[in-house]
Amino acid sequence: MNFCSVCGAKVALRIPAGDHLPRHVCEACGTIHYSNPKMVVGAIPEWEDQILLCRRAIEPRHGKWTLPAGFMENDETTAEAAARETAEEACARIEVGDLYSLINVAHISQVHMLYRARLLDLDFAPGEESLEVRLFREEEIPWDELAFRSVAMTLRFYFEDRRERRFRFHVADIRTPSHIAAS
Ligand code: ZN
Repeated sequence: MNFCSVCGAKVALRIPAGDHLPRHVCEACGTIHYSNPKMVVGAIPEWEDQILLCRRAIEPRHGKWTLPAGFMENDETTAEAAARETAEEACARIEVGDLYSLINVAHISQVHMLYRARLLDLDFAPGEESLEVRLFREEEIPWDELAFRSVAMTLRFYFEDRRERRFRFHVADIRTPSHIAAS
């Protein structure tokens, strides 16, 4: 950030009085511009023993498969965000269920939240951000072609829980960029 979004003056990076981290501070109007993690919210749309995945038509990870998910908007709830992203990416209607996974992706300052969800009908299609949308059985999941580690983790939790016939809430942390991760 170079300029203040309130008054247009140049900002400086410094630790404000009483704070402990450097912030962009406007020297003209005094506004402190905080930067905080972003919420990425999505759904695990279920239809019988199958899960709906979308193949991405956009970067990052163009061509890879993901659960419908995206950045939460202002003035919406997390469950509304999950339903909206599913409608946008898969043109699908869901009934949002329990929150299933919360994954801190600390090195990129994101928090990913995935809800279990019931697909209401089979009337789905690729939205503008998807190349393809389809249902997968567990043995069909393209594990090597998944777009994000948070999605892979969530799906592993999901199928493990389903085998045990007991779904529980999962919290996990991803702290390293994927290219230096051990596995
Ligand atoms: Zn200012």
